[in-house]
Amino acid sequence: MKYFAPKSLEELKDLFLSNHDLNILAGGTDVLPRWQDNPSLKLDVLVDIKKIPELIGIKESETDIKIGALTTVQDLKKSDIIKKHFSSIYEATCQFAGVQIRHRATIAGNICNASPAGDLLPGLYVHNAVIQISGLKGERVVPIHQFITGVGKTILESDEIVVGIVIPKSSIKSLFYKLGLRQSMAISVVNFAIAYEIDENNNWKSLQIAAGSVAPTVIYLKTFTDALFSGSDVDESIQLVDDEISPIDDIRATASYRSKVIKNVLMHIIKEIYVR
Ligand SMILES: Cc1cc2nc3c(=O)[nH]c(=O)nc-3n(C[C@H](O)[C@H](O)[C@H](O)COP(=O)(O)OP(=O)(O)OC[C@H]3O[C@@H](n4cnc5c(N)ncnc54)[C@H](O)[C@@H]3O)c2cc1C
Repeated sequence: MKYFAPKSLEELKDLFLSNHDLNILAGGTDVLPRWQDNPSLKLDVLVDIKKIPELIGIKESETDIKIGALTTVQDLKKSDIIKKHFSSIYEATCQFAGVQIRHRATIAGNICNASPAGDLLPGLYVHNAVIQISGLKGERVVPIHQFITGVGKTILESDEIVVGIVIPKSSIKSLFYKLGLRQSMAISVVNFAIAYEIDENNNWKSLQIAAGSVAPTVIYLKTFTDALFSGSDVDESIQLVDDEISPIDDIRATASYRSKVIKNVLMHIIKEIYVR
């Protein structure tokens, strides 16, 4: 196996030009266990991007926050900016793995791994995050729900990487819920984020719900939120969630458990934040 550790995006682009099938390594908390479980996986060229300074740091402007690809879950957890503007993302960091993993795991790794159970994803979806991509053909930005296309699948080309994530600032409140099989170091059985505003007349001003581990990708529960938005009662409209999700049985839970738990908890939380 060849190992490279470029010190700039320019150096990385040179590697893309001279090699095919590069395997990008950030924190390694998904790549390395996957490789350990399956040593026959081809990792001929490993490119460690952790020494690229352009990928580091959280920057705030008047309108948005730019989070560098290498920002770790721990960096997000201790950022006052994240805590102030994006509660659901902050809450996800508090329930993410254990402290050692949080210090290694990066935000772009969580996104590019494209697991339906990725804990940072629902918060990024409800805050309308966009992914900044850089590659040999140039730069592009794509909304996160278009970036992830299936289990472990994204739109990244083989000569592209994620350089950052941009999230627009707003006055929208948000929260995150995670159900795991234990308190910490647990992959989500179900997770979701809700972003909402309620106006002075106690009506929804905005509402978005993104749910994980109930479909091949994180999904927006649009039919359910549209029903609430148009005034339907939560007890009646909650059944619409079943039309939107496609959970599976796996080692952590059955599909039917996932369906029941997401509806029960959503109903409970919606009633808590929106009292008629
Ligand atoms: C013990 C343990 C507990 C865990 N607990 C949780 C948990 O509670 N919640 C959760 O969501 N996840 C959890 N994970 C999974 C993992 O920690 C996260 O998905 C993490 O965010 C991955 O980031 P990383 O930097 O380690 O990615 P890596 O393993 O380095 O990379 C993951 C994938 O993304 C690609 N990649 C990384 N960065 C980029 C980039 N900038 N551009 C393009 N491609 C890139 C890599 O090529 C690879 O395919 C856990 C893992 C372990 C081992």
